[in-house]
Amino acid sequence: MGLEQYQGDMNMCCRCSACKWVPMQRVSGYQFANVCPSISRFNFHSYSGGGRMNIGAAMLRNEISYTDRLQHIVYNCQMCGACGVSCNYAMDMNVMEPIYELRIKCVKDGKTLPALDQTIEGLRKTGSIFPPNGKRGDWAQGLDLKDAAKDKVAVMLYVGDVTSYDPYLQKLARATAKILQKAGVDFGIAGNAEVSSGDRAYQLGYEEDFLNQARKNMDYINRNGIKTVVTADAESYQAFKVLYDKYKLRGSLQVLHITEYIRQLIQEGKLKPKNNVDMNVTYHDPCHLGRLGEPWVHWEGKKVPGDRFVFDPPKQYRRGSNGVYDAPRDVLNSIPGVKLTEMQRIKEYAWCCGSGGGVGRSNPEFAQWTAQERIDEAETTGAEAIVTACPWCQKLFNKTIDDGNSRMKVFDIVELFEQSIE
Ligand code: SF4
Ligand code: SF4
Repeated sequence: MGLEQYQGDMNMCCRCSACKWVPMQRVSGYQFANVCPSISRFNFHSYSGGGRMNIGAAMLRNEISYTDRLQHIVYNCQMCGACGVSCNYAMDMNVMEPIYELRIKCVKDGKTLPALDQTIEGLRKTGSIFPPNGKRGDWAQGLDLKDAAKDKVAVMLYVGDVTSYDPYLQKLARATAKILQKAGVDFGIAGNAEVSSGDRAYQLGYEEDFLNQARKNMDYINRNGIKTVVTADAESYQAFKVLYDKYKLRGSLQVLHITEYIRQLIQEGKLKPKNNVDMNVTYHDPCHLGRLGEPWVHWEGKKVPGDRFVFDPPKQYRRGSNGVYDAPRDVLNSIPGVKLTEMQRIKEYAWCCGSGGGVGRSNPEFAQWTAQERIDEAETTGAEAIVTACPWCQKLFNKTIDDGNSRMKVFDIVELFEQSIE
């Protein structure tokens, strides 16, 4: 059905521009009230969530055709989901789904960007969005971890592309594995057999490549009797938990972000943080763990005849409030010595780190501009470090800080938690 299935949603957009801002009732400061990096950077309505809805509707009516400017608008968007959450504060309509479909249409029509085509070519050749560097399972050398395909484990640690291959971020995979070992969890990894979750392919509009990855992962999981996937990669969490469910591929697989699992292990008495990690921190909610990590809601029904907006049964909209927000905060607060101060835009209204939607690849300057705004916001809290729960966020924050003049440090929660149980 593609973009057509969202024609009603797109036609419903009243160009009110609420998708550019934190809803008035939820604004907590004058300085950081915007939510959409794209409209904030390019300052023209087409670059907002609503603008993209208007573009999709106009394409279906054959009123506009592809131009360089149109592609610039479509791809200079982090696919962060903030527009949908702000719109749905007051409105019942799909915003992100038509935006995904617009990209899927661009791919089908061959109107993509060379940089993103190259990324997908790399995925097809190597099974990874991030360029490989050695063997995928090299990060695990010396840890004596079980092989999820041979050792009959119910829990699999899924590492993800960037953590597997980025030499700096491999320490996150090791820290995560050590935490699970310390808790006595019987888990395994896919190691060299692990492949991309496909989340980035989906964000870029390459639906078939996403589905290819999803099927490979679910085949592996089902073949090896894995019941639970744990990951510290927020994008992969969203793929396994939300997107695989959306496409009815997930079955009964349980998907946990590492912070959800650590919190559970603390509650069960299997992990006891005891070492002091004296640090004033602020927490950045990754989009794919927060608002985009909200469970998928299946709906089947019909429009009430004669009414544009009423459905039978009533449609449930994903408004972002059911994302993973408490678990990372609970884990941070469990670490002795850590003092958490919140930023102005948090949870479903968090500002994106900038790396999503392929923007880090196609327009790195815009990606870093977006990250810099988050770093500026973090600095206003007085914290010495931004803590996040996704390797993509950490990578872009570090790069932006290295290229700029901030003294802010960046950590993943698993790094601080591992220090507290060492
Ligand atoms: S997408 Fe929603 S919030 Fe944005 S302009 Fe349209 S109706 Fe308003
Ligand atoms: S997904 Fe994010 S960057 Fe794209 S239009 Fe929506 S709020 Fe803006």
